[in-house]
Amino acid sequence: MADVFASLVGQEEPVATLRRAAASAAGIVRAGRTTTGQPGAPDRPGPGGPGADGSGPDGSGSDGSGPDGSGEPGRAEGGGSGAMTHAWIFTGPPGSGRSVAARAFAAALQCTTGTGCGDCPGCHTTLLGTHADVRFVVPEGLSIGVGEMRALVLRAASTPTGGRWQVLVIEDADRLTEAAGNALLKAIEEPPPRTVFLLCTPSTHPDDISVTVRSRCRVIPLRQPPADAVAGVLAARDGVSRDIAAWAAAAAQGHVGRARRLARDPQARARREAVLAIPRRLTGIGACFDAASALIEAAEAEAAASVAEQDTREKTELETALGAGGTGRGAASAIRGATGQLKDLERRQKSRATRAQRDALDRALVDLAGFYRDVLALRFEAPVAPVHADTNAVAVAAAQKWSAEAALRRLEAVLACRDAIEANVKPRIAVEAMMLALWRG
Ligand SMILES: [Zn+2]
Repeated sequence: MADVFASLVGQEEPVATLRRAAASAAGIVRAGRTTTGQPGAPDRPGPGGPGADGSGPDGSGSDGSGPDGSGEPGRAEGGGSGAMTHAWIFTGPPGSGRSVAARAFAAALQCTTGTGCGDCPGCHTTLLGTHADVRFVVPEGLSIGVGEMRALVLRAASTPTGGRWQVLVIEDADRLTEAAGNALLKAIEEPPPRTVFLLCTPSTHPDDISVTVRSRCRVIPLRQPPADAVAGVLAARDGVSRDIAAWAAAAAQGHVGRARRLARDPQARARREAVLAIPRRLTGIGACFDAASALIEAAEAEAAASVAEQDTREKTELETALGAGGTGRGAASAIRGATGQLKDLERRQKSRATRAQRDALDRALVDLAGFYRDVLALRFEAPVAPVHADTNAVAVAAAQKWSAEAALRRLEAVLACRDAIEANVKPRIAVEAMMLALWRG
């Protein structure tokens, strides 16, 4: 089997950094030290520590003081203990593999050979999500609350049962509430000696992660993988034919998971086609409102399908755990307590469904933006490949009809709709406004 980093597509530089860190971490474990290289002393970077490396707020600095830690004062270079630190942020556009990278790194930290071999029990259980010392936080609702974060931080402080590291992976760390972010910051500021925090966010913009948390972390910026790298993976690993792999990789705009779904799931392809049919359908005000309804309802249906199975399973499990149907003594008071827990579960499920709807709608808007981008590129005769090769004929016709400004206004209308939804405008209202703007041009 390939090693744990093999699943990262088109990310050579970050992978090299993570390999060095894993090797350095293995050295620390062998020597029985902590991340600072001194027995018993927790790693507490000062103001000049990781993150304060002048690489700019987007973490994409390539001035030699980047995420490999070479710009950190007082730290060893290369594969020394300075290559390892206790808090990391993985950034990159959706689908670039932030959580894949964090998971691979977590596996490498637990790997018995220290390399992320992919074969040993440490690698294996981490990748499966069953390693006792690795916890994954995947926010299901719109945000991660403070209670959940405190409990996680507490558990992450315990001594690793496997003798290596306690790893806390927080996917979508941009969805932390402010209070949860503060609870996390406290832990990162005073980390237990063998605890490693791996955070994933779209960027290091203050909207995504607090400046103070960021200043304590080393940043691993992942890039949007090039389409040919994505196509290569689909063909090699998923057995997708070359043609379909190339089409799906381009249509998914560098999103590996989305490319895989498009290549393999006919329903995902049908939903995408319906979205790309929108520009042709906007023939009047009535059609705009119809298109808005159709888009919202499609997102709701997609989201409902994606969470339905999990909802049912969770409810059954909770009911079983609560002893539903019991008639013995104490059953009445148990039912009173159970009502609260069921309400709690329903609240969490509702929050998760809302998140899934937003995500589905956002994917549709990204597809739509790709179409107007293609029109603009054609209008300027830019030498770039289209995002949606299969709607090229429609894009060519539109480019003949619209001015460049009109195409740009439409593209901006789609992006404004995304921003409005992100800022909590009701999705239906934002989408209706967008459809009208697209029709007017
Ligand atoms: Zn291993």
